[in-house]
Amino acid sequence: MEKVKITFLGTSNAIPTVKRSHTAILLTYKNENILVDCGEGAQRQFKFAHLSPSKLTRLLITHWHGDHILGIPGLFQTLAMSDYQKTLEVYGPRNTERFLSSLQHIFKLKIKTKVKEVFSKFYEGSDFYLEAASMKHDTHCLAYSFIIKEKHRLDKKKLAKLKLPNSPLLKQLQESKSITFKGRKIKSSQVSYLEKGRKITFILDTAPNPASIQLAKNSDILVCESSFSNQEAALAKERLHLTAKDAATIAKKAKVKKLILTHISQRYEHNPKIILDEAKKVFKNTTLAKDFDVVEF
Ligand SMILES: [Zn+2]
Ligand SMILES: [Zn+2]
Repeated sequence: MEKVKITFLGTSNAIPTVKRSHTAILLTYKNENILVDCGEGAQRQFKFAHLSPSKLTRLLITHWHGDHILGIPGLFQTLAMSDYQKTLEVYGPRNTERFLSSLQHIFKLKIKTKVKEVFSKFYEGSDFYLEAASMKHDTHCLAYSFIIKEKHRLDKKKLAKLKLPNSPLLKQLQESKSITFKGRKIKSSQVSYLEKGRKITFILDTAPNPASIQLAKNSDILVCESSFSNQEAALAKERLHLTAKDAATIAKKAKVKKLILTHISQRYEHNPKIILDEAKKVFKNTTLAKDFDVVEF
């Protein structure tokens, strides 16, 4: 099974700290390198993580607050100077086309982009699809899910046993069709197995809202903002952010398998355990991301 890799390039709240850079999370799967948000300094975080931004295929922007997008000009400039030949697919909430084209105009960022303002299911490839849902923040804001489809896989050992050659027949079996080989009928189910789908959801800035639970439903991993602890619940409410308890409640209600907290306020720089412990009381399988953490599954 091809692994999905999530690299946390930045895990801070609005103000970066010594340990935490602005939000940027890279998801790698097969040939896809999808960046979720591009906070200030993201391109340098790529270097520290020994990753190449030139491999980027898509950029998902949650919203146009500085801590999520200030890294775009620098990253695009580097891509242009690195002779980036791909067309970068950029997705975001309302106004993304206008804002991004302004940035490209001001900084003369000459990389090819295809920009789309999105909602619900907005991309479907053969292996995976992408979904977005509107969150509750003080500007248009999206959360995203990356969903790998379940797939019929052929069992190589069983194929070898039947001495099936590498031919178009295999494709038919993979498509759940029966075939006839040397006068024998072979059902797809005899030589294949179902590889389960996987789902990862990214919820960055938002106040608690029902759409977040809906989007995150049954995710294997929920990466979720957790700006404040419950002691600062009033502040979280005022600024339309989540507390650790809120994030864990979403995870619980959405029945996700694992919760990873990010977007941590600088006030917890020396004691992020407050955030983690609070979330764990509601949802046990929780971890708290730090910059350069890598999660593979
Ligand atoms: Zn933010
Ligand atoms: Zn924000």
